[in-house]
Amino acid sequence: VIEILTIGDELISGRTADINAAMIARALHAAGCIVRRVTTVGDAPEDIRLALLTCMQGIRFVIVTGGLGPTEDDRTAVAAADAFNDTLTLHPHALALLRAELSRRGLELNAPRQKQAMLPSTCTPIANPVGTACGFVMRYADRHYLFLPGVPAEACAMMEQFVTGYVNEQAGLRNAMLSVTLRVFGMRESVIQEALDAGPVLPMDVALGFYPHFPEVALRLTGCGPDEALVRDHLEQARVVIEECIGSCIYAEGEVSLPACVGSLLRERGSSVAVAESCTGGLLSHLITGVAGSSGWFERGIVAYSNTAKTQLAGVEKGLIEEHGAVSTAVAQALAQGIRTRAASTYGIGITGIAGPDGGTPEKPVGTVCFAVVGPESCSVHQRCFTGTRDQIKTLSAFTALDLLRRMLLGLQDVETGPSVPL
Ligand code: ATP
Ligand code: MG
Repeated sequence: VIEILTIGDELISGRTADINAAMIARALHAAGCIVRRVTTVGDAPEDIRLALLTCMQGIRFVIVTGGLGPTEDDRTAVAAADAFNDTLTLHPHALALLRAELSRRGLELNAPRQKQAMLPSTCTPIANPVGTACGFVMRYADRHYLFLPGVPAEACAMMEQFVTGYVNEQAGLRNAMLSVTLRVFGMRESVIQEALDAGPVLPMDVALGFYPHFPEVALRLTGCGPDEALVRDHLEQARVVIEECIGSCIYAEGEVSLPACVGSLLRERGSSVAVAESCTGGLLSHLITGVAGSSGWFERGIVAYSNTAKTQLAGVEKGLIEEHGAVSTAVAQALAQGIRTRAASTYGIGITGIAGPDGGTPEKPVGTVCFAVVGPESCSVHQRCFTGTRDQIKTLSAFTALDLLRRMLLGLQDVETGPSVPL
């Protein structure tokens, strides 16, 4: 059980975002530790001293970063000495580390640099593989305090080279911690929760976290326990339960984007896609071309914004637009068919809609978007009504089009209850 303390006036004033706390928490979490609290204080020695002494119950390790450098504003060592009834001395081991590092870089040992070896007399220095300021370990009140420099690259290197191993060794036997991330599109958090509530309960030792990231939601399952095989088993059980509840809305596991997922499906099948988009203004093509290797399966994308462009670029008949309106499933289908024929691609996508904030009518309010996906065997046509800002409607539309193609590729049913409002 761990606490993290980051130190620096720049952190509490908001000038610098705290990279270290997140980096340390991630590293230790992955190593199976439980992080109970993250605290930040400024450079005032009294604040540092108090922060070092006020730990939560049961904390065994405190990881501290910042204020170990050679300058006047680096006061962590003195605050630590104060807190733990120690005094600063020119620490022989730290001095040796410092000399070795300086000579490796061809630098002189001047007075400010020597200050970096002024450490509490009872501490054990930690070598810094990428800088001159060494870290140090102190024991106090049954806790291990590990002090690291503030520079993120240095703190990170020392985490990898020393801290994780040290914590593992000192903590003895610990729990296995495993996790899996399920990526969901097409269901809002509350709807996912509702679906899960109706299903079987998850195993006790598996925690479920919701991480909405517009327009998607990531579900993170984390299992923790002393028996790794059992944790793995329970995690798998939980995954199956969730899959049963929300099934086809899970498009991938792990760090995969929806465009990349669709790309893999097309590549596996040796298929290609071309898109004709109106209200998304090229966003769909942009998302697709954000995937490395998309040239292998993306034939072309056109932005057919005006009625004339729809006719000229995708062969949509003028009469069709006059009869049904530019925002209609008929025109979406004609766009998809037109671009598929012209590109000679396996699949064609058409999108036309009203992103707002103006341009809505009572029959077709802002947020009305029509989609068509045309393939060799079938055509799926949809009309949705999204709410949200212009940007949100465009994003939802582009993702919805990708999801409709994914569903066609996998032979899945389309969900009619798509994300009609921002997640
Ligand atoms: P140095 O030897 O460079 O002085 P130090 O241990 O004294 O190292 P600080 O003076 O606290 O570290 O910070 C050095 C640099 O690292 C500063 O630019 C600071 O903004 C940055 N830094 C410190 N702590 C963090 C943090 N938690 N997250 C991101 N950046 C940080
Ligand atoms: Mg400094």
